[in-house]
Amino acid sequence: MIEVSHLTKRYGKITAVDDISFSVDTGEVLGFLGPNGAGKSTTMNIITGYISSNEGTVTVDGSEILKNPKQTKQKIGYLPEIPPLYIDMTVRKYLEFMFDLKQVKLPKKQHVDEVSRLVGLENHGKRLIKNLSKGYRQRVGFAQALLGNPPVIILDEPTVGLDPKQIIDIRKLIKSLGKKHTVILSSHVLSEIAATCDRVIIIDGGKIIADAKADELHSVLSENRRLLLTAEGSSSEIGAELNRIPAVQRVKKLGVAGKGANQYELEYLPDSDIRREVFNAMARTKSPILEMKSGDGSLEELYLRLTEKAKGGEN
Ligand code: ADP
Ligand code: MG
Repeated sequence: MIEVSHLTKRYGKITAVDDISFSVDTGEVLGFLGPNGAGKSTTMNIITGYISSNEGTVTVDGSEILKNPKQTKQKIGYLPEIPPLYIDMTVRKYLEFMFDLKQVKLPKKQHVDEVSRLVGLENHGKRLIKNLSKGYRQRVGFAQALLGNPPVIILDEPTVGLDPKQIIDIRKLIKSLGKKHTVILSSHVLSEIAATCDRVIIIDGGKIIADAKADELHSVLSENRRLLLTAEGSSSEIGAELNRIPAVQRVKKLGVAGKGANQYELEYLPDSDIRREVFNAMARTKSPILEMKSGDGSLEELYLRLTEKAKGGEN
């Protein structure tokens, strides 16, 4: 459905997007994961035709954005990072206005009704956009993207700044979109992508550093677990005692963490919980535990594991 080939975008000396290629199948929900400044928004802006690239091509449903901009744009619904809302309009007026602007060829009233219902705005048509909460404004942005039933929906950080309840609602909406549309969404939050996507592309410094299916993502995340422990006492004694715990596979001293205390990283088998055994081991050596926390689930961790995996696969 979407073919992105060798995209590069430079801003002066900065290469925001550096030779990115990937394709997205019909019906796939693809997550774009990466830290701030990774190049996510720039890539999305190029795919949607908002900005041009220095090199490379984008084809959506067989039509190329540079050759047929109008026709290609009609195939894409886009929710940018900052949705283009006219806050002095009512929800209904705004959606009708966008309907006209996009030259949608569907029965107007019926279609605006349908889209409003889909995003949960059916009772908010008469409200001024400026009086809506951030979560409801985001729904208006969503509705705008859905007008005309485009086969491709692109969402840039759709849950940023929303509260937990609103995030759950928006995630549900994204999942339901995946049934009829091909979706690309970006986020710098791993759990966001894990919750909504079939596949994830990790980008950093304008480059793709990993491309994985969701089940791979979950298996990577549930592989060896890590625990971070800060404890006082002799590190050789502590290391030896921790290594006696059956599920512990590796103990690594990360460094000094205050007077007489060190931080350790413990790698242990999945599906085990070693916290009590760690407590007992530290009690035996009379080493006070200053802190103990789970070390998995971070974006950095995932980067490391997926990139290690990719390297391992090449050898
Ligand atoms: P992300 O969306 O992943 O946070 P962006 O695509 O917004 O990242 O930005 C990628 C890089 O390109 C950043 O270093 C950013 O500062 C730079 N950049 C983005 N837009 C512009 C612009 N209009 N002018 C100059 N630099 C830009
Ligand atoms: Mg961005």
